[in-house]
Amino acid sequence: MDFRRQITAVALFFLILYLFMMPNQDALIFSILKGIAIGGLAMVFITYAFPSILKFNSDENNDEDKQKTAESEFGLSSVVKSHYERLLTQVVDLVSVVNPAYSTGVYMVDKEGQGYTRQNSSENDLSSFITEKNSIVSEIIHQNKPVILKKNKHHEGWAEILGERSWRGSETILGFPISFSGHIVGAMLVFTDHFSSINDQDIHIIEKLGEIITHGMTDLEQMESLMVDNYFNSRVTNLFDQLEVKSDQSELFESIRGLCRAFFQYDKLTITMVDSDQSTAKIKLVDGLHDDADEGQSFNMINTLHGLAVQENRMIHSNTWFDEFPEMNRFNPNDRDTFNFMSVLSIPLRSNGEAVGAISLERLKSKKYTDTDARLFELLCGTVSSILNWQQEYNRVHESSIHDGLTGLLNHKAFLDRFEEEVSRAGRFNHMLGLVILDLDKFKSINDSYGHLYGDYVLEEVSSIIKENVRAIDVVGRYGGEEFAVLLVNTDIQQCIPLAERIVRKISEKTFLKNGIAVNVTISAGMAGFPIHADQVRELISKADKAMYETKRIGGNSVTISE
Ligand code: GH3
Ligand code: MG
Ligand code: MG
Repeated sequence: MDFRRQITAVALFFLILYLFMMPNQDALIFSILKGIAIGGLAMVFITYAFPSILKFNSDENNDEDKQKTAESEFGLSSVVKSHYERLLTQVVDLVSVVNPAYSTGVYMVDKEGQGYTRQNSSENDLSSFITEKNSIVSEIIHQNKPVILKKNKHHEGWAEILGERSWRGSETILGFPISFSGHIVGAMLVFTDHFSSINDQDIHIIEKLGEIITHGMTDLEQMESLMVDNYFNSRVTNLFDQLEVKSDQSELFESIRGLCRAFFQYDKLTITMVDSDQSTAKIKLVDGLHDDADEGQSFNMINTLHGLAVQENRMIHSNTWFDEFPEMNRFNPNDRDTFNFMSVLSIPLRSNGEAVGAISLERLKSKKYTDTDARLFELLCGTVSSILNWQQEYNRVHESSIHDGLTGLLNHKAFLDRFEEEVSRAGRFNHMLGLVILDLDKFKSINDSYGHLYGDYVLEEVSSIIKENVRAIDVVGRYGGEEFAVLLVNTDIQQCIPLAERIVRKISEKTFLKNGIAVNVTISAGMAGFPIHADQVRELISKADKAMYETKRIGGNSVTISE
């Protein structure tokens, strides 16, 4: 544009020069040329003296406009992008919770379709880009299900993902496809140096995490389509930022109260969540009037205004609900007249499309909630739904990652983590702890005689007996194959003895019976107390273990206390 402007200035200069040189021409064309010259001069003057007047025409301004549009577009998707990155980080972190030996990378198809770009990873040693031809990713995409790939001399593609290294031959990649709108758009790669560190339960858990990414993307797409109001968006984004996926539901509901107070007028805000029986719902939060129905109460959703959004899985938006739903009460039978609520906006909270709760705003006045209110409220409910889903998935995955699949007891690592926590707490509060290690006697012979499945059944029953014979606050773990550990909290060693003896006795008294096979087993126990035997986890375990072996040495089926 500068160039065009220069040409125009030069042309104007020559035009004026020409008019000066030929001053006495009266033809019409000369009048027009004079007009153009004067107009041009005026334009130059105005542009020079008042640059802002003509700015709307300038190219720079166009650029600025474009930049602004780009910024607002970027702003819009950056909100969603930050949710997305958060989701991926949480998923990647969770894989490390499942098994610290794993490195994870999430790859998504590249814009140009040339390959896969790393979106998030637990380690930097996973390549940031994988070409489309890579045989490992191709295999995952082709199979469209979780695959386990072991390093093999002839396999191509490993170095592209993991870099050149000296291969041991035991390296393994677990691959999980990620799909969006029915198409595979990427993969989650979980790498471990040695295949022996993988167990079936891990694969199942990580598969679920892959699904979380898939569901998450659908949630985010919906969220993006709803994001309209920038200020509201930024507040909703804060909701995400404030909340960790690990934080609990009540924190989330408190944040909703804050947001609703800032953005909507209401006389009552109610958050409900459906109970497991699917017909009743529990009131999780109330703001405003709470004499009619309050937090903690449950109600039957059938024929109630507050159950309607859930039951019909749709938004209820009315200022005449009283006439629209003449057969309905609000929460409880015969409560439609108790308060004169008229206007309602109620939107379901959803999990995988199904209504699992609702957030409702009500006003005593008949003023209807506007469409903008409805749209913003919808965005809020959509966001809350996503957070709830992610929290739920997190809890589910976390629960299964710390529990043993066969017995449901804490697994080895989780038990040790709890043990560390309890020792440090006991140290702070001057409490005592008792550790009991139990190992089934001659258990191998049960497997040998009746098979592994029968052995599993015995292990399940034994763990139930142990669990039933300790208090709820005590910590029980499956410490090894047929080895259990019990941490008796705030108990001195003398009080621990009868507890341990009872467990040992109950197991020996039980007749295990399955498929017509009756078996009796015994267990050996060893005990050590904090702080009298040791004040460190490792030493306590070693002492209790030693005591347990002493029990074995003298014939099993009893309890030995550490020296
Ligand atoms: P001891 O009295 O010395 O403890 O003898 P034991 O046979 O109990 O001990 P050993 O360590 O020789 O064998 C333990 C057995 O426990 C071997 C293994 O097959 C079995 N086992 C470990 N985990 C499981 C499991 O998850 N299921 C089944 N069925 N058996 C298991
Ligand atoms: Mg044993
Ligand atoms: Mg053993």
